[in-house]
Amino acid sequence: MRFDILTLFPDLFSAFVKETIPGRAVAKGLIDIHLIDIRAFAKGPHRVTDDRPYGGGDGMVMKAGPIFRALQSIERAGGPSRVILLSPQGEPFTQARAWELSGIEQLTLICGRYEGVDERIRAECVDLELSIGDYVLSGGELGAMVIVDAVSRLIPGVLGGERSNLEDSFEDGLLEYPHYTRPRVFRDREVPPVLLSGDHEKIRVWRRTQALKRTLERRPDLLEKAKLTEEDRRILADLAKGKAT
Ligand code: SAH
Repeated sequence: MRFDILTLFPDLFSAFVKETIPGRAVAKGLIDIHLIDIRAFAKGPHRVTDDRPYGGGDGMVMKAGPIFRALQSIERAGGPSRVILLSPQGEPFTQARAWELSGIEQLTLICGRYEGVDERIRAECVDLELSIGDYVLSGGELGAMVIVDAVSRLIPGVLGGERSNLEDSFEDGLLEYPHYTRPRVFRDREVPPVLLSGDHEKIRVWRRTQALKRTLERRPDLLEKAKLTEEDRRILADLAKGKAT
């Protein structure tokens, strides 16, 4: 899978590409990250990439021309592709969207700065606008990293055989159960005895119960959309009666 990232600050990505899970995937040749410096496509001796907004007001707007030319310069990989604009006004980015994007050959991510990009770029070139949350960042670069990270760890082989991502939070609409590792006692807190029992079925039920309990306590909104089994409903009923812990 190939990511083309359009940014005014390509250097921001160097440690990210080197050090993270996607970085390992780059080394293994499973994903390819191309950083495209928008400034290289700006015209004139000063290579200006932003200008004052029509209609007046504070702040600067990223010009359409340099972004358009940068987009045109991208070598097409051939398979399905998607041009994504990072924007606080976009659709909220979710795990379901990450799965969908992980099946696409080429993703282009446009990182805005200042007040954002000229609206005509959105209208002319963008397939999808994504927001990473209801807050305003100073640039789209962190959002692009979030998307590259979440999407690339879903590509087969990226996580190595070391674990399955299918149990992660959100995969079945629930938050994941809590994790423990050695030592068995830490500041007088014991690991739940069931995890030491060696009884796989008991452990499975305990973990499922914890996942349901956490989701109920922290994100009841997720339960409404979660894929629940008969067993889950029974556990939830027990939790409501205070029977399960
Ligand atoms: N004036 C704009 C905000 C611009 S913030 C508005 O009110 O909608 C500058 C850039 O940061 C944006 O163009 C976008 O690329 C990025 N950005 C800011 N917040 C973001 C968020 N929550 N998710 C994704 N990108 C964001």
